[in-house]
Amino acid sequence: MAGYTPMILQYLAIKEEAKDAFLFFRLGDFYEMFFDDAIAASRELEITLTGREGGGEKKIPMCGVPYHSAENYISRLVDKGYKVAICEQVEDPAAAKGVVRREIVRIITPGTVMETKALDGNSNNFIAAIVRVGGILGLSACDLSTGEFYVTSFPEHLEALIDEINVYQPSELVGDDELLARIQAAAVWNRQLLLTARQPMATDKLLEQFGEAEIAKVKGARLQAVSVLTGYLEETQKRSLGHVRAITSYEPNQFMILDHYTRRNLELTETVRDRSKKGSLLWLLDRTQTSMGARLLRRWIDKPLLSSTAVEARLDAVETLYLNLILRDDIRSELQPIYDLERLVGRVAFGSANGRDLNALRSSLRRIPQLTELCEHSGSDVLKALVDGTDNCSDLADLIETVLVDEPPVTIKEGGLIRAGYDAYLDQLREASTNGKKWLAELERQEREATGIKNLKIGYNRIFGYYLEVSKGNLSSLPEGRYERKQTLANAERFVTPELKEKEKLILEAEDKMVDLEYERFIELRDHLSLHLHRLQKAAAIIAELDVYQSLATVSAERRFSRPKVTEGYNLHIEDGKHPVVEAMMDGIPFISNGTALHKDEQWMLLITGPNMAGKSTYMRQVALICIMAQIGCFVPAKSAEIPLIDRIFTRIGAADDLIGGQSTFMVEMKDIQIMTDKATANSLVIIDELGRGTSTGEGMAIAQAVIEYVHHHIGCKALVSTHFHELAHLEESLPSLANARMAVEESGDNVTFLRKLIAGAASTSYGIYCAQLAGLPESIIGRAYELLDETLDGETTKPAPKIDTFAYAQTAPAAEFVKEAVQPKGIVQLSIFDEPAAANEAEPARKKASPKAEQLAEQLRKLDLFNLTPMQAMQWLNDMKSKL
Ligand code: ADP
Repeated sequence: MAGYTPMILQYLAIKEEAKDAFLFFRLGDFYEMFFDDAIAASRELEITLTGREGGGEKKIPMCGVPYHSAENYISRLVDKGYKVAICEQVEDPAAAKGVVRREIVRIITPGTVMETKALDGNSNNFIAAIVRVGGILGLSACDLSTGEFYVTSFPEHLEALIDEINVYQPSELVGDDELLARIQAAAVWNRQLLLTARQPMATDKLLEQFGEAEIAKVKGARLQAVSVLTGYLEETQKRSLGHVRAITSYEPNQFMILDHYTRRNLELTETVRDRSKKGSLLWLLDRTQTSMGARLLRRWIDKPLLSSTAVEARLDAVETLYLNLILRDDIRSELQPIYDLERLVGRVAFGSANGRDLNALRSSLRRIPQLTELCEHSGSDVLKALVDGTDNCSDLADLIETVLVDEPPVTIKEGGLIRAGYDAYLDQLREASTNGKKWLAELERQEREATGIKNLKIGYNRIFGYYLEVSKGNLSSLPEGRYERKQTLANAERFVTPELKEKEKLILEAEDKMVDLEYERFIELRDHLSLHLHRLQKAAAIIAELDVYQSLATVSAERRFSRPKVTEGYNLHIEDGKHPVVEAMMDGIPFISNGTALHKDEQWMLLITGPNMAGKSTYMRQVALICIMAQIGCFVPAKSAEIPLIDRIFTRIGAADDLIGGQSTFMVEMKDIQIMTDKATANSLVIIDELGRGTSTGEGMAIAQAVIEYVHHHIGCKALVSTHFHELAHLEESLPSLANARMAVEESGDNVTFLRKLIAGAASTSYGIYCAQLAGLPESIIGRAYELLDETLDGETTKPAPKIDTFAYAQTAPAAEFVKEAVQPKGIVQLSIFDEPAAANEAEPARKKASPKAEQLAEQLRKLDLFNLTPMQAMQWLNDMKSKL
């Protein structure tokens, strides 16, 4: 290190404190990065890498970003999962002896970012901590932008920990390094998750943050989790976090448990296919007007309730708003202009709120009295209780109004913030400055008159201050003596006079003082508000809850959902249920409703058969979604519904992400089933789509039967199982609580129609080949497949391939009266993979006419072990075949 300049030595010393972060080192108007940071940052941010002499043998790699546009660059790095340490000059460079003192003032990380640009208003940005104390795991989570802080604990179990972490979808995880390593190995996250090992913080500091009463609420692993997280927040933020004062401690079993796969399979907050919100349950239910409401709705969907009283209370509030359109509209329009109070409060606490933020806070608070009144007169006890004793915070809104102008600038350091009349001295200074400006205008007039130069003007710039400007052509008219030359431009000269200099001093002094005073007054106001953060947070929470009620009521009313009856019993009964999201996405095409009856003393397990595309999985998901909707307190898409509180939903539905993990579909399925057998109780709901696929027919069927028997004999929970093994239908006879059901299909002549109706009994065939035909496979393959099927079934009669011209479905519910509507005919593909085109409906199987090359391909196709192929392998095989053609 010898030879480095003092500044580089300072840089290196500070870098030691932030080894895992990009160090943004303030140098004048830039944040500079050096050494490896510079190389990496120039790559990540696509900025030019330069070099700087630093006293060493070689130039030091360097790159930098301007201070005023740093937020953008920081957001980009944080978005990519990096940390950024901000190092500022902490003394006045003019007063410094030697190198200016610098310190890291804050470390911005993915889970602690406060900057608006990097945050999505409609979802929380959580940072979580995980710890282990004895055999207990503790998990805490905080959204620093809103101040929410949650903590829970449970007996050690990695799956349970992953499920709980998933509720928060954190962007950063800190804690016990060994636990972090295990979490990383489980790798169920396909998004960026930054992991940092950290230890608990000192108890006195923890007490300082939360106060004794809050800390007394948490013990053991929970206390430890709170401590690790708070310690990390302190370490990175280096300031008081006035808005993080309350800890919400909860038991995991207060809520319905939904594992990672179930959340994804049911597409609760994002779709499986492209992880977009559109097409998810959240998308359907989100008619919130405020960001706080949007975030709370997401949390409700993530955590359906397990208390019928709590669910009923929510349903009561929703019902009032459902029935009263005028009230709902009034509330919606009062909510609409409300800003993100929670995050505004966060910025006040953090010391980053500007004048516009405070005005947004003020105008939002002004809506509270009207909202309170609407709730008080709503006729709903729940809404009344919600706003009971509401603190309108009108004193705070009044204060902001008195202090700040209506349209303050973005920056708080250049004046223009404080309203006239608020501060007498400020008003005086303003007057001095205004008078000074009047005086300048008068001087300009006088000088023009005295010199006869019409375009003589008075101007101002930062370097020379006020000046008189005379164009070159008019210079000769200027009298000698009084005018002192200051600056020469291409076609003008600038001068000052002794009076101008004197007045300038007064004006500039007044302006300087004004700016300082305005800043002081603004900070006073912000500091005052930060003494009332808890009041503001409470108001924000009420608004968020009301917003969610109106959102659920709006969707429920518009889509004509009905109020479910939530019970503590066992029986589940849905009359004319629908899949809310599929229906909403169908764009006018009618959705066929289906009922569900799972009763303790009748059947509580359904074995559903029917062809692919018949609607089995839509039906099963619809039952799960209806239960979830009921338990978050929403009306449900059904004519009527009796929903018993479901403690946990398990789903095993083929998902595309199985491929990402590199595991075979079958292995993933078996693991899920293992968890289900381990965790399900009689109050759970189990949904398995295509049980037993992905292994050989014999084994698949055997496993499917064994699993069904296990659920029936040992768990006793409500279960919906679909299978393509229609041979399993016989189970209905040996398992008294299991019933066969199938998706009705009507065949008439050449047409097969999916009726989308669930009826009793088992399907006689799985229509697999029929589906292949629908997908447009060559007739020669279809013909051969039927031939082989005939052989396997060894004499059992099978149908000849129905010719498919149209793909129709029933429009109305009663199966007998359906109306057919032709959808785009699939058109059988004429080109086959074989050399000669195979004619449809020819009696002679196409393969007999095939060429030697085709015969070779056909032989390979015959040998293909379909049941042991992953979808990726199948794609690969098809690709190979294609290249051989
Ligand atoms: P399966 O699981 O039997 O293969 P899906 O449940 O995936 O079939 O349904 C296939 C498609 O049929 C769905 O994408 C949807 O468009 C449509 N569909 C399913 N159920 C219904 C219904 N009840 N009414 C109308 N269309 C439906």
